[in-house]
Amino acid sequence: MKKMMLLITILPIVSALLFVSLTVAADSYHGDLKSKIFHNADCPNFNCESCVEIFETRDDAIKIGYRPCKKCKP
Ligand SMILES: [Zn+2]
Repeated sequence: MKKMMLLITILPIVSALLFVSLTVAADSYHGDLKSKIFHNADCPNFNCESCVEIFETRDDAIKIGYRPCKKCKP
């Protein structure tokens, strides 16, 4: 019975972690063409009108002259 309780407690945590890592892997960074600032997936500006440049890593963004957003700090 105790084992079952443990499983019930752990399962949501494990699936949440899995979901987070999958989301992070799938969602890259969006760069704003106008301001040359790039955003995290959880930033409100991630899907802004001019945020159409997509980067796999933050290094890619920095290499071509983008700056990390001050709000989401990617
Ligand atoms: Zn941002």
